Amino acid sequence: MPKGGDLHHHYSGSIYAETYLNWVGTHNYCVYREDNAALNIQKYRIESKVSELSSAAKALCITADAIRSDNGFYRELLKRWSDIDYFNHYHEQPPPDQQFFDTFGYFDPVADSNYNEGFLWLKNTAISENVQYIETILKNGPNLVVADELNVMLDALTSKSADYEIDRALTAYFNAVVNDTHANLTINNYVKMIETSADGINDANFTLRFQTYVFRGDSPSRVFSSLFSSFSATMRSDLIVGVNIVGAENGIVSMRDYTLHMKMFRFLKQRFPLVKLAMHAGELVLGLVPPEGLQFHIREAIEIAGASRIGHGIDIFYEHNSYELLQKMKQLNIVVEAVVSSNEFILGIKNGAHPML
Ligand SMILES: [Zn+2]
Repeated sequence: MPKGGDLHHHYSGSIYAETYLNWVGTHNYCVYREDNAALNIQKYRIESKVSELSSAAKALCITADAIRSDNGFYRELLKRWSDIDYFNHYHEQPPPDQQFFDTFGYFDPVADSNYNEGFLWLKNTAISENVQYIETILKNGPNLVVADELNVMLDALTSKSADYEIDRALTAYFNAVVNDTHANLTINNYVKMIETSADGINDANFTLRFQTYVFRGDSPSRVFSSLFSSFSATMRSDLIVGVNIVGAENGIVSMRDYTLHMKMFRFLKQRFPLVKLAMHAGELVLGLVPPEGLQFHIREAIEIAGASRIGHGIDIFYEHNSYELLQKMKQLNIVVEAVVSSNEFILGIKNGAHPML
């Protein structure tokens, strides 16, 4: 990372698992110490509704203090909640990409409980590393409540749908939410939550900004709903500087709906032309998906969606006409975030294999 600015990071992935465990203690939550299918509980999961638990479930759920006094369990928990010790010894573990994305599910219940404290820690850490500007991916654009038939109409869309069909469905949805009181209240609350989380963080020496985002593994109706909120929120706050799309790009839904997602971005970019897009695209390697899946993601993010910044982009040389695409990116001043350590851990791309070189 060039010192001075960190182009984007994911808030919940930036806080240490040890800190999350402290927050489990602060809130009097507990963590399950074993799996139990009958009770529908999973080992290492956080329970936030402790008072509603049956006595059987309560007996299996232990406090942060109890965890810290059991070194064996504590170390196992850190391995699930983070990527600690992944490569430095042998232990039973999922592949690195799954390990990485799975961690978010563990600390999710506590991740959004202490934003201000988390940002203060991030700010101090950034300053100590000589970083004065960070862009945080905090929380996805909220889903909006609409008539069922609109959701059904959007969920019938695919990447192969004709443009006029996509535009017709998205227009109907857009018209239903753009002036809807409840939808606007939801979006305003989301903006307020983001701005409150940044209270007291920005000053003469440090700048915190946000990206809103949509999760690429959701159904088309949820993706569009969240994307509409994300675009709208970006227009409503000076602290929000752009929209992103996140989640494992090699997931079944991510791959299947990729082009549809890009067309959703295009549709909203036409209606909110001032909103800038920074998009995870091309976070893929040969063998992770069939080769045809490597041939168009970066180009579509730029040419269809209108992205001005690409995150990862490491499958660039598998794109159709990749040199022409690179030339175009240069002309358009498209920034590529070379996410070196992430690419090494999640995708195994390092040293000479990294296209940055
Ligand atoms: Zn990212």
